[in-house]
Amino acid sequence: MTLEIYQFPARSDNYGVLVHDPESGNTASIDAPSAAEVEAALAAKGWKLTHIFTTHHHNDHTEGNAALKAQTGCEIIGPSGESEKVPGIDKKVGEGDTFKFGKYTVEVLETPGHTLGHIAYVIPEAKVAFVGDTMFAMGCGRVFEGTHEMMWNSLSKLRKLPADTVVYAGHEYTQSNAKFALTIEPDNEALQQRAAEVDTVRAQGMPTLPTTIAAELATNPFLRACEPEVKAALKMNDAPDWAVFGEIRTRKDNA
Ligand SMILES: [Zn+2]
Repeated sequence: MTLEIYQFPARSDNYGVLVHDPESGNTASIDAPSAAEVEAALAAKGWKLTHIFTTHHHNDHTEGNAALKAQTGCEIIGPSGESEKVPGIDKKVGEGDTFKFGKYTVEVLETPGHTLGHIAYVIPEAKVAFVGDTMFAMGCGRVFEGTHEMMWNSLSKLRKLPADTVVYAGHEYTQSNAKFALTIEPDNEALQQRAAEVDTVRAQGMPTLPTTIAAELATNPFLRACEPEVKAALKMNDAPDWAVFGEIRTRKDNA
């Protein structure tokens, strides 16, 4: 029996995600955008919450923690780097830590930049990663607390995941990300094609996530800051990768 994953829209543009292991009966909520929306998703699937995996402290990812823990007694796992800001945290995890979820091993990557303690959860056996607000489809999180170099190093860790890893992220920002990406790489055919697909999917009111590492390596300008064609497009051929990333991030911030 394989891991079951249920994604649902939450708040204005967040995604909630439930991960269910049918064998153990464990169910984790990846972040908790709001207690009511996570409860509704649990009820829809008939699953009982056992864990919350918190990616970072922002309110739109942790607001449901306290109420869900009070109702279900779930264990809240979250980033050691900002544990004091995560309501109800039981277990603090950081780079290289692993823990069991049913028979699955969950690996933790520290991906600071958006926040200083931000982490991602990877389940290699299921070829899935939950990256919070570090990376989005064709985009990445704003660098609120860290530096551009720090965020580039975090994205570089995601670059190294197997290309067929399925990636869940915190927000549906894909359409505006695609528009911006085309300003960086107007001639990237994979990007042109994906941007058109995204318009079709959104016109139907469907989610554009999850994505894959392969799709992001081909179309995400933030992940592609090290590629010679991206550097050339920005006339930054000799600049370090992180500086190219920083230029792209600054342009997006001002777009
Ligand atoms: Zn955030």
